Amino acid sequence: MTGSGGTGVVGRFAPSPTGAMHLGNARTALLAWLHSRAHGGRHLLRFEDLDTGRVRPWAYDLTRRDLEWLGLDWDGEVIQSRRLDLYRDAAARLDTYPCTCTRREIRDAIQDSAGAPHGEEPVYPGTCRAAPRSPDRPAALRWRVPEGEACAHDALSGRTLCQDLRADVGDLVLRRNDGVYAYHLAVVVDDAAGGVTDVLRGEDLWTATPRQAALQAALGLPTPRYLHVPLMTDYRGERLAKRGGAPPLSALREAGESAARIRAELARSLGWLVQDEVSLPDLLPLWSAELARPGAG
Ligand code: GLU
Repeated sequence: MTGSGGTGVVGRFAPSPTGAMHLGNARTALLAWLHSRAHGGRHLLRFEDLDTGRVRPWAYDLTRRDLEWLGLDWDGEVIQSRRLDLYRDAAARLDTYPCTCTRREIRDAIQDSAGAPHGEEPVYPGTCRAAPRSPDRPAALRWRVPEGEACAHDALSGRTLCQDLRADVGDLVLRRNDGVYAYHLAVVVDDAAGGVTDVLRGEDLWTATPRQAALQAALGLPTPRYLHVPLMTDYRGERLAKRGGAPPLSALREAGESAARIRAELARSLGWLVQDEVSLPDLLPLWSAELARPGAG
């Protein structure tokens, strides 16, 4: 089933090849595919492998095999580690400064400032903005975030999230001091380069969306439509994680499980009423029905 792209929708699934896909990853992959194909759109696969220390070389092929087994095809593939020039060029177009502060210096500055960590993530207090660079230390590259609010809209739930970038997020690292480009930069560059119109991804990235929208605005790139889907949890209500030992999809495949049953299990975990075995064409209208629910749009 290859999308004609007739509606102009381009979606993507963007796994990090840091381990074997588990059912939670598979469910996000399934929904991203259903979204692209329900619109008759194109669907891309992107390996987000910039954090080389965490990459497992075998995970690329295993991910492709898992997706193929589920029947989730794609029309183009991108590997981030082969596109560093694009991220370098994008970073060069932004208002940035080198930052040689250590984690400890930043932590101390946060503690000294009246407003201690704000919300869940510590906000970088701008320690290095005016500080002289320490030539003996490798520098990270930080983006001087613009003043004011950045907002994001979720087309699945109808939610809007606005953040004051300076107060809630702080100057973003675009390139770590070991040379690794940041996910937030790469994701906006790649979505725009691929002509991605619809980003369906896990709920864990929702609070990162306003800063990504701000990066798009600063780079003159379009903001795609965002749809954040719940993460799958285990029986204790904890989200499945590669590092948390969630069973790999490949283990189920190798144990002789059928893809049609796994698709049914994934659909049921979303509350969809399906037979014990389902095909992808069975699931397409169920996704369209989700999109038609009040609140979506
Ligand atoms: N690579 C990210 C992950 O595996 C997804 C990023 C995105 O979809 O924007 O969680």
